[in-house]
Amino acid sequence: MSKTEKYEFQAEVGKVLDIVVNALYSHSEIFLRELISNASDAADKLRYSALTHPGLMKDHGAFEIILRPDKAQKTLAIVDNGIGMNKEELIQNLGTIARSGSAEFAAHLTGDSKKDMNLIGQFGVGFYSAFMVASKVEVFTRKAGDSTGWHWTSEGAGSFTIDEDKKTPTGTTILLHLKKQFEEYLDPMRLRFIVKQYSDHVSIPIILENGRDKETLNSASALWTRPKTEITEEQYRDFYRSLTHNFDEPWLTLHYNAEGIIEYKALLFIPSKAPFDLFQPDKKRGLNLYVNRVFISDEVEELLPHYLRFVKGIIDTNELPLNVSREMLQHTPVLAKIRKGIVTRLLEAIKKKMEESDSYNTFWKDFGIVFKEGLYEEPENVKKIAPLCRFYSSKVDGLTSLDEYIKRMPVGQKNIYYITGDDLAVLRNNPSLEGFTAKGIEVLLLTDPIDEFWPQVFNEWDGKKILSVTQPDKDFEEIKALSENDAESLTDSLQTLLITKVKEILKDQVNDVQMTNRLNKSPVALRAANGQMSIHLERLMKQHGQQQSFASTRILELNPRHALIKKLGQAVFDKAPDEKIADAVWILYDEARAIEGEPLEDPAGFMEKVNAFMEKGF
Ligand code: ADP
Repeated sequence: MSKTEKYEFQAEVGKVLDIVVNALYSHSEIFLRELISNASDAADKLRYSALTHPGLMKDHGAFEIILRPDKAQKTLAIVDNGIGMNKEELIQNLGTIARSGSAEFAAHLTGDSKKDMNLIGQFGVGFYSAFMVASKVEVFTRKAGDSTGWHWTSEGAGSFTIDEDKKTPTGTTILLHLKKQFEEYLDPMRLRFIVKQYSDHVSIPIILENGRDKETLNSASALWTRPKTEITEEQYRDFYRSLTHNFDEPWLTLHYNAEGIIEYKALLFIPSKAPFDLFQPDKKRGLNLYVNRVFISDEVEELLPHYLRFVKGIIDTNELPLNVSREMLQHTPVLAKIRKGIVTRLLEAIKKKMEESDSYNTFWKDFGIVFKEGLYEEPENVKKIAPLCRFYSSKVDGLTSLDEYIKRMPVGQKNIYYITGDDLAVLRNNPSLEGFTAKGIEVLLLTDPIDEFWPQVFNEWDGKKILSVTQPDKDFEEIKALSENDAESLTDSLQTLLITKVKEILKDQVNDVQMTNRLNKSPVALRAANGQMSIHLERLMKQHGQQQSFASTRILELNPRHALIKKLGQAVFDKAPDEKIADAVWILYDEARAIEGEPLEDPAGFMEKVNAFMEKGF
């Protein structure tokens, strides 16, 4: 028998162990995740080495990780047939702290045990977490290609021993002598649960060996780690379905391996249908995060901007420690960098899909309402987001893009125009469009609540201002110019006279009365005063119980080319009876409200006045 050698742990390891053993009780189950992750890495390393040295895997069966609880001995063995370790590596890897996570952890240790305990959550503690649940840890290992193996033992306190072990096969067995209070880890149910929760996507089978029974615990479907060329569409679809619990096909599947400044693997999906809870505030959002195929969290919101919250999928990276905490996820620059990469790739993929597939409008109808938020959420990407946006418009039946709109602009049109409202059909007939339509100017018809907000931030495209048709008239120089040859307008002096009169009659109803070029068939229209909430937004707020008095912010606009307005102007000049003029003005005001979808101030009074005029008309 070879002699047993005794070694001291490096001082930092001692400190880490001390904290791990004494403080990490609340999440003790993570030891299994850590050891499985190491085993899976060991398999990856052997697979990789065998690429250049095929002899290393001679007589090697399939890769697997075996969990072998032994109730009689109160031990749990975690067995892998990965790369294994030679003697030097054993001493180096399990006796000193060389690797990033633990090294950083050790570097941050202060000696103040309270502070140090908090640190544990932030850094992975890898192999040493075994000492949370075990009073003694034995490691049997043989490096692939070596003629002998080694046996490492420690009780965690300061030292470990190593002796030769000729019998141990290639790979590593970690044998945990469980502490009395952790015998739950002998229970197959408990093991099954932990593996499902933390290690389901580890790419090699994790097998529970219970006496003669063998049971694979994980689905071993780390699909994202396999080359794209080896994955069928069905496999992607099945993975998507199990991930999202959906039954549809993914509309977009994006699978890539980012290398360079930051390394990660991404497998992302856009569903073909919006989920019913897309707008529920408490809906789970975010991507699943894996560190080296080990599941970390399933709702990492930091990985996606808000406007892409319908994207599902997983990110797998080695740039974070396994034991990354919630706080760390919120602050680490790693996630911010990955998110930047994800957004770029997604926007490119959506663009490609838009160019190549005719299903784009279907996507837009389901997710456009969310995607548009990007126009104000992410100014740095607006150049990529805007061309992907679609809108209804006064000139075309279906959806259109800003660039198509611009191509259709008649000579002389300088700006891009839009109008907001609840309903497409009602918007198409809004009098505020008349002047534009008459001059061949197209207006985007925006019906989503969000459309009230993005134009305030995203207000220019391709050198053209994006303006609401309810903006003050001075912004519509081109319409005015185009209106010069229209029907004769009420003379300036009569305009002034009429405005004064109407203001007098409606002084408590409106903020101002103005002439406009925007109308064509209609005599009047209402619009929000400059800088005030639009009438549509005002209504949205009322629906949400945020009622205030808005009436004083309205402007009543008169069409100086309309026969009725011209007659009314003349009537004021001719000193027609005040009551008659007031009745007519009130009818016109109520008409303007009605067309905006507003209730009439006094429906009975309105009817009475209209009827009286009709009677005279006959
Ligand atoms: P990490 O795995 O994050 O590097 P650990 O403390 O968990 O840190 O492990 C330290 C090192 O020990 C690993 O990097 C690896 O080289 C070695 N190691 C641990 N477990 C195994 C194993 N099952 N097979 C081979 N090597 C292992």
